[in-house]
Amino acid sequence: MDAELPLAGRHAVITGASRGIGAAIATRLAGMGAQTTLIGRDRRALERQASGDRNARAVVCDVTDPVEVERAFAEARERMPIAILINNAGAAESAPFQKTSDAMLERMLAVNLGAAFRCARAALPSMIETGWGRIVNIASIAGLRGYPYVTAYVAAKHALVGFTRALAMETARKGITVNAVCPGYTDTELVRNSVATIVAKTGRSESEALHELIRHNPQARLIRPEEVADAVAWLCGPGADSITGQAIAVAGGEIM
Ligand code: NAD
Repeated sequence: MDAELPLAGRHAVITGASRGIGAAIATRLAGMGAQTTLIGRDRRALERQASGDRNARAVVCDVTDPVEVERAFAEARERMPIAILINNAGAAESAPFQKTSDAMLERMLAVNLGAAFRCARAALPSMIETGWGRIVNIASIAGLRGYPYVTAYVAAKHALVGFTRALAMETARKGITVNAVCPGYTDTELVRNSVATIVAKTGRSESEALHELIRHNPQARLIRPEEVADAVAWLCGPGADSITGQAIAVAGGEIM
C-alpha cells in the first residue's frame, strides 16, 4: 500500500457530493488516491466538483428514488467494484411538532434513512465479494440527542444511527465496517437555510440566529466541512479496521 495514497485502487461512492460536507469528503478521499463516483441531483454542480480530477465521475441520481438508485449503483459498479460508500445526502426541515405533517416526516425519512438503506444494499455485494468495505453514514448530533422543532429530522437521524449499528453487526465478520459520523452545526448551505428560517420566523438578526445554533457547542463555532471529512477519511483509511458500529460526534464537544 502506498502510504501517501492509502485508498489507491479503491472506489468510493459519495452521495450528495456536489457541495457542503459531501464535496469536502469527495475531495479528501480523492486526495487519498480513491477513484470517486459523485452522486447527486444537480449535474452541473456535480461536474464542477468532479472537474480537475480524472479519477472522479459524476452520476445524476435522486437517492430517494429506488429505481434511480439501482441504475446509478449499477453504473458505479460497472466502472469498478464499490469499496467505500459515504451516505451523505440529507436534508433538514423544521417545524413545531404540531405543524409537522405526515409529508414532512416521510420526506425526512426518505432522504435521511431510506436512501442510506438502499444505497448500502446496492453497494454491499461488491464489498462482500472483495472482503473489504467501508460504509460511513453522515448522521448528525441530532441522531444522538433531541432538539426542538426538528422532530422528523431527529427521528430520521436516530434511525440512521440505529441502522448503522445493526448493519455493523451483520457485516462484522466480512471485512466491512459501518459507522456514523455525527456533525454538529456545520458551515454549509443547510445551516445557512436554517439561519434564514429562524430570521424569517422570529424576526431575529442573522447573527442572533447563528448564535442560537452554536450556543450549545462548547467551542462556540460552526464545524468546518473539512473537519467532518477528516473523520470520514480516518474511518476509511488504514488503522480503523476495528472501528465499527460507532457514532462519532464531530461537534466541538456538544455531545459527550
Ligand atoms: P447541503 O444541503 O449543503 O448538502 C446536502 C447534499 O445532499 C446536497 O448536495 C443535496 O443536493 C444532496 N441531496 C439532498 N437530497 C438529495 C436527494 N434526494 N438525492 C440526491 N442528493 C440529495 O448540506 P450539508 O450540510 O453538506 O449536509 C450533508 C449531510 O450532513 C446531510 O446528511 C446532513 O443532514 C448532515 N448534517 C449537516 C449538518 C450541518 O449543520 N450542515 C449537521 C449535521 C448533519
